[in-house]
Amino acid sequence: MSLFNGNNQRQDGVSGSELRAVEHNVFGGRRILWAGLAAVLLPLGVLLALQYWWLTELEQNSAIAREATLNNYLEATTKEVYYHYYKISERTLNLPAELFTKNKLEKAGSYFKKKEVKGARSLFVLGYGEKENRLLFFNPETGVMEDSGHSDESMAVWAAASPWSFMRKKGSKVKSAALAADQHNPGTRIILNPITDENWQLVGLAGLIIDEAYFKSTVLPEAIEFSLPKFEDANTDELRVVVRDGRKKQVFPEGKKAAWEKDRARRGFQFVFTDWSIALQGSYASPEKWARVNFTYNMTLSAVLALVLLGGIGLTIRTALREIKLSAMKNEFVSNVSHELRTPLSSIRVFGEFMRRGKIEAPEKIREYGSYIETESRRLTQLINNILDFSRIESGHLSYDFQATDLEELLAGTLATFSIRLRDKGFDVEYSEPAEPLPEVRLDANAIDRAVANLLDNAVKYANGERHIGVRLQREGDEITIAVSDHGIGIPKEELERIFDRFHRVSTGLVHDVKGSGLGLSLVKHIAEAHGGSVKAESEPGRGSTFTLRLPIEGPTGEAT
Ligand code: ADP
Repeated sequence: MSLFNGNNQRQDGVSGSELRAVEHNVFGGRRILWAGLAAVLLPLGVLLALQYWWLTELEQNSAIAREATLNNYLEATTKEVYYHYYKISERTLNLPAELFTKNKLEKAGSYFKKKEVKGARSLFVLGYGEKENRLLFFNPETGVMEDSGHSDESMAVWAAASPWSFMRKKGSKVKSAALAADQHNPGTRIILNPITDENWQLVGLAGLIIDEAYFKSTVLPEAIEFSLPKFEDANTDELRVVVRDGRKKQVFPEGKKAAWEKDRARRGFQFVFTDWSIALQGSYASPEKWARVNFTYNMTLSAVLALVLLGGIGLTIRTALREIKLSAMKNEFVSNVSHELRTPLSSIRVFGEFMRRGKIEAPEKIREYGSYIETESRRLTQLINNILDFSRIESGHLSYDFQATDLEELLAGTLATFSIRLRDKGFDVEYSEPAEPLPEVRLDANAIDRAVANLLDNAVKYANGERHIGVRLQREGDEITIAVSDHGIGIPKEELERIFDRFHRVSTGLVHDVKGSGLGLSLVKHIAEAHGGSVKAESEPGRGSTFTLRLPIEGPTGEAT
């Protein structure tokens, strides 16, 4: 036995360094993987963040642009209104000063008559005389200037003219002859044109009273309509203009009330109706809207791309990790297998040498050494068979030869072959034979022999000092079960499935001390399944394991090879 130990240490030295190299590779490989992942994810993150920032910026800028566009539109509309009233006032109210200085106020009628005045409720002149001030209204039907007495309109005009009357009284000069609007009384809005003599002295006022109904029905809609074509690049179809009076009462459009909060832009009128407001509501196919759509589209696209990319990276990492693990397992496999091969070989060589030199003469010693050589050769054969089977499975060339077989006889043969090794190592095998004689089973005798040998081999390898092995053969309905149980180190619950994977070896507990290829159970599983059966492990760590091979009596359905 000391021979094995001596060899073990030597082999362990070699395989240990190999393993460290493998671990280093694996670790190094993972580091490179993480670095690669970071190299992809970081720029991706930066790109996404930049794009987000960029698009938000664009959206904000577009919002400002939209604000400006809407305001421009409203300004254009209010300017139209302003031009309208300024134009009619300039055209109508520019009367010669002599009418006032030479007391010919009645003549104003002939001037007014010639002009077509759209949007004025009444036209009037107010003359400041030596003795009295006179206010005459134009009668459009007769074309004559008339004294209106104490009507509401004349009261309103007197009130509107009072600052001018005050100036006149004071004798101050009127420096600019600009039109003035008086809107103290919202029901009577007045535009006044101060008339001055050559010395800039105020001699009178020509004025008009605005027709509010005409403003609402004609001036306003025309102004709105007129300003729209200037924004033809914007889709103004869905835009609504809302006009409200000084008390915020909606005057345009008539009908459905537009909520104040929904105004997207609002401003007051210029010159006349200054207490009114004009606003825009509704959606606007503006650059902002385009930017928002663009934003959502771009962000969604980026998110989808990022997800796909991450998925790809995830898959690559998974594959790479698997490859790394597999390569580590393969390296470990090579190291283990070379150890498994060398150990029996060196025993055989040493015993053979002893015998050749004739150093051993006692017949019982010769028998003992002979049996060592036989056992170790069998181990070698089993290992090589396992490797060959594995390579055949991998290349898809492993075939089975199913024959009706007496399983009791087969099992007895397998146990007999094993008995020397078992006996030498001090194991006792308790064989429980079936209660009734078994029918013949369709199976590949060699394959089943190898499967059971693998199970027995494991029972010995992982015995951990408990040298009692149980083998039970019995029938369960249409199936035959072969159970191999030991009282060894056992297998953790979470490993029970995985131990049947190729190369998989339990990495915890005592199993570390035992060398193996990690192929045995994967072959057992393959063989069981090829027979239409199964293999299952039950175990309690520290107390032992039972492996049960289940084979249908009829053999595999279809008898695939
Ligand atoms: P190997 O024994 O060559 O490592 P196997 O495929 O035969 O490969 O077994 C896979 C693993 O299952 C073993 O490494 C061991 O950890 C565990 N195992 C198998 N049989 C037993 C058993 N009887 N008792 C405890 N553990 C076992």
